[in-house]
Parts: sequence; structure tokens; C-alpha cells
Amino acid sequence: MATTKADGAGPTSEERKRARTILRRLKKRYPEIHTALRYRDPWQLLVATVLSAQTTDEAVNQVTPELFERYPTPEDLANADPAEVERIVHRTGFFRQKASAIIRLSAELVERYGGEVPPDLDELVTLPGVGRKTASVVLAEAWGIPAVAVDTHVKRVSRRLGLTEHSDPDKIEEDLKALFPREEWAGLSMRFIQFGRDVCRARDPDCGRCELFDVCRWPGRLERA
Ligand code: SF4
Repeated sequence: MATTKADGAGPTSEERKRARTILRRLKKRYPEIHTALRYRDPWQLLVATVLSAQTTDEAVNQVTPELFERYPTPEDLANADPAEVERIVHRTGFFRQKASAIIRLSAELVERYGGEVPPDLDELVTLPGVGRKTASVVLAEAWGIPAVAVDTHVKRVSRRLGLTEHSDPDKIEEDLKALFPREEWAGLSMRFIQFGRDVCRARDPDCGRCELFDVCRWPGRLERA
């Protein structure tokens, strides 16, 4: 198991080498990788990412065209009728909380940043409904700013591969940042997320055909080979 920065020590050269192998193979599988969420600007991506909690990107893509047509700017959404926004985002689940969050975050963007999304993690996480994961997705995707977003897929894949032994997303983020070069962070999460959906699935990981089998540390893979 990796002993990494979150444990107070840096990774060994062996662990870095294994991380490089994992990244190289994932880049071969996914040479280009971007979010499946549709958006035109950082604000739309931020709103779409907030809406994507606990649902699929496809479900979000079904509601955002109407949402952004009805409310084309942060000012428009900040002044929206909550009931109307709830109706539009209904199919993404948790629609009351999500409608409230995207209205409030748009209002704060207007009030504090003149309607512009700040390209800064510490500032983004002060906005309503925006955690480190959402902020990291937006930074990496909209600007290519090095950031590691830890969602349920990144957590599962990282733990199975033995890149972290932590469960806390902040500590997993630290471990991954310590293991992988900064210039790779922006694409790392997206590749882990897609790999977690396609191969290293939660219930039925396809270990028998996995290109990371030999570098994986998950004991359960042997039963699925
Ligand atoms: S061998 Fe199995 S558990 Fe390990 S990374 Fe591949 S799919 Fe995931």
C-alpha cells in the first residue's frame, strides 16, 4: 500500500513508477478525455456540475438546454422563480436543493465576482453547493488548471489500485497529488472516473480483461480473473 503525502511521507520511487505505469495505460485507453456535461462557459459548467450530484451526466444534459435558454446569464438565474427552476431540473433528483443551490450560487457570483466564475479553488468552495470535487472538475475542465477531483469512482479505483488507503476524499486527493505529476492532474480524475464506469465498476469490475491487473493491489481481482 502506498505511503504517501497524506500519511506525512512522500511516495517511494517504486510507488511513483507504478503510478506512472497506471497513468500511461489509462492515457492509452483514453487519449483525450473531457466531461460528458455540455456547457458553453465556466458558469454553465459549474451549474451543470452541481446538478450532476447523485445522477448521470446524461440526465443533466437533458435539462440544461432549457435551463440555460430560459436563464442565459448568472444574473438571470439569480433572479429566477425557484418553482420554475425546480420544474426544469426536476429529473436530476434532489431538485429543491439543487434549484436553491444554483440560484444562490449564481446570486453570489454576481454579487461577489461580477458574474464571473473565479478560477481559484479556495474561492470556488465558498460558493453555495460547491465542494472541492465540483470546484476541481470546473478548474480542470474549464481552464486546464491542475486539480484532482475525488468522486466515488476516483475513490474506488484509487483504493483498489493501492494508490491510497484512505476513505476521506481530501486525503485521497493529497495522495494522488503526491503520486502523479502536476501537469497530469487535470486529466487524471476524468480518466479514473471513466475507467471506473467502464472497467473497474463498483459491483462487477472486469478484472479478467483489465489492463491494470498486474499493477492492481485489490485482492478481489484474483477471483474475477
Ligand atoms: S484489476 Fe479489477 S480491481 Fe484492479 S483496477 Fe482492474 S478492474 Fe479494478
